[in-house]
Amino acid sequence: MGLVIQKYGGSSLANTEALNAVANSIVSRFKQGDALVVVVSAMGKTTEDLLRKAREVSQTPCQRELDMLVTAGERISMALLSMAIQAAGVEAISFTGSQSGIITTNDHQEAKIIEVRPQRIQEALDSGKIVIVAGFQGVSLEREVTTLGRGGSDTSAVALAAALAADACEIYSDVDGVYSTDPNLCAQAQHLPSLDYKEMKTMALYGAKVLNADAIAFAQRAGIEIRARKTGEGRRESVVRRGGDGRPAFVAVVGLKQVTRCLGLASGPSLEQTFVETSGARMVAAHLSGQDVELWLDRTNIPEDASDTLHAIAKAQDLKAYDCSLLTLLGLTPDRRISALEEARMLFKEASIDLLATRVVDEGINFLVGSDDFEKGTTLLHAHFVEKT
Ligand code: ADP
Ligand code: ASP
Ligand code: MG
Repeated sequence: MGLVIQKYGGSSLANTEALNAVANSIVSRFKQGDALVVVVSAMGKTTEDLLRKAREVSQTPCQRELDMLVTAGERISMALLSMAIQAAGVEAISFTGSQSGIITTNDHQEAKIIEVRPQRIQEALDSGKIVIVAGFQGVSLEREVTTLGRGGSDTSAVALAAALAADACEIYSDVDGVYSTDPNLCAQAQHLPSLDYKEMKTMALYGAKVLNADAIAFAQRAGIEIRARKTGEGRRESVVRRGGDGRPAFVAVVGLKQVTRCLGLASGPSLEQTFVETSGARMVAAHLSGQDVELWLDRTNIPEDASDTLHAIAKAQDLKAYDCSLLTLLGLTPDRRISALEEARMLFKEASIDLLATRVVDEGINFLVGSDDFEKGTTLLHAHFVEKT
């Protein structure tokens, strides 16, 4: 018998039927003898819906109130899941992030976990209960409710696994692990049974949202192995751990669909800060050479109209702004990258895909393409560099 931390994302809790199915599989796992702490995300698209409501009442909602609002999503899931488990005849109790002792910095919307004081969880486990924890949230030393950034429930699970010295940390979603590209985009995506922390972190930062980049960084620091699995199905999984399984070459294609590229002549200092702070977008690349400036900003986790904000800032700074997508070919040895870049240029040309920009980075090669070419470009790169090798 061991202590297992499980995390179920919004995709696994889309409605009460799905939630009941999750409750049943938790109960049967518990009856096999494992002690369980289950971290939950908000149901389905609840977080998006709440954020949309906030924009209906204010164009510039205060970050503290946004945290108060969105944390309600995870509270709904935790209470319903606990009730469903109790209805199946097993004792369960739910806790918010604060009740779970998840102490964070006071940075609303992007708080970092400072420490976990899991006394209440431990007491509940000792009394034989299944513990359900609201993911994505914590409390600051200033006693404010905080959130950990979009996709942050993965980090809650890893932090609890570390604090409770758990025997396993399992993250459940709608895919049975990590693939060489998004399996929902490309049927030929190859399942990756094992990945190194660094590989997974890079994949996540460049768009593989199956696991959260901050969660991987936390797992790497704490030495926690993460098992990514599909809710309710088989036992195929991807394990993220130190060193991977010694595969000779790791090659994958990942993508960020909503990117804004800004370029022109720098007009003043702290340009990057102005973009990030005003829009909330994530800076993926900032290239400054003399007066020339080129910025790539990821809009994935900010409101749909953020593109307008970015364009307005660019205009005020005399920069040009274009909405596009960023594809990244990860892996390949450094000497292979140069020839790969030429091959990719040819491939895109033959497929009539305009390459807006390329960049060779330590982890692989970036390709900026029009947003309409996102899927086509991904499958093209995958077919040539992953399927053929
Ligand atoms: P959850 O709601 O459970 O947190 P997410 O939606 O965050 O789940 O992550 C699962 C999704 O990640 C999948 O539906 C899949 O489309 C996407 N994804 C993107 N890239 C990859 C990849 N390389 N491997 C697996 N899944 C990927
Ligand atoms: N519900 C939050 C989000 O949508 C946290 C999570 O899903 O991990 O970002
Ligand atoms: Mg997720």
